Amino acid sequence: MNFIDLHVHSTASDGTLTPTQIVTCAAEAGLSAIALTDHDTTAGVAEALKAAEARNRRGLSTPRVIPGAELSCIWHHREKETEIHILGLFLPCENTTLKAFLTEMMEARKKRNDEILRRLSADGICISHSDLVGENPDTVITRAHFATALIKKGYASNIDQVFKKYLNSGGKYCPPKEAAEPERAVRLILECGGFPVLAHPMRYHLSWKEIEELTALLAKAGLMGLEVYYSSHTKEQSQRLRTLGRRFGLLSTGGSDFHGAKKPDIHIGTGYGGLRVPKTLLDDIESALRQKQ
Ligand code: AMP
Ligand code: MN
Ligand code: MN
Ligand code: MN
Repeated sequence: MNFIDLHVHSTASDGTLTPTQIVTCAAEAGLSAIALTDHDTTAGVAEALKAAEARNRRGLSTPRVIPGAELSCIWHHREKETEIHILGLFLPCENTTLKAFLTEMMEARKKRNDEILRRLSADGICISHSDLVGENPDTVITRAHFATALIKKGYASNIDQVFKKYLNSGGKYCPPKEAAEPERAVRLILECGGFPVLAHPMRYHLSWKEIEELTALLAKAGLMGLEVYYSSHTKEQSQRLRTLGRRFGLLSTGGSDFHGAKKPDIHIGTGYGGLRVPKTLLDDIESALRQKQ
């Protein structure tokens, strides 16, 4: 059977492999397709497509590269704010509406990041731009970049500690990021011809009732997929999500959320070891997109 991975990060955001290395890694894992889904950017897609083309020309087995992104949104519900991630698959990277949306997200990120730097330096903790980006000047700077820099400078000994102490959103050093409502991200992806998916529904600390409410809300906005298969999902959770998705006419998608050495236990295609995403899911996604046109 052919297997795929529709949720992968590169150095264009907080993954540690370049888009070219991602393509090699996916080929070595025997995958037939991957979606590059960096946080709030499609900047790594062109390099990944080029790497795949180069491998094809050399007659090497090569995964197909699906252009994508993972958009960070905030869902306001019952006086609560929950960060929700919407995956966009088959994104047209040159689309002007998409580009304007991503620029807006980047500006909100920069504002939040500058404020983290300001608050840290007010307490005598100096982090430079190069501490954050390392050898990737064009990377989207996430809290994961701050985490690595703070650990390297000895302010915390591990990732859990650094997030608790410095990077907790809404905490002393990290103001909440301004972000779009998830319905807006769904509509945007849909309008530009992409396939909108609710990412990792079990990771938001929501009750099952809230997950159902969110799914209903997003389905109304045009959501087409639910990330049913995911590294940390149990079989029971995947089964329950698949049933939920069917109720709202959503297709199942699946991916590992591979980040390279940032999340060393998660492997491309197989997650913690038990994940397998069949290529038939991708065939269903493509036929749904064709029907929409
Ligand atoms: P941002 O989008 O800038 O808010 O950063 C979010 C990124 O930080 C996520 O994609 C994760 O890679 C990482 N992250 C967030 N919370 C944690 C946590 N508690 N432990 C480890 N990594 C985290
Ligand atoms: Mn990440
Ligand atoms: Mn996510
Ligand atoms: Mn992700």
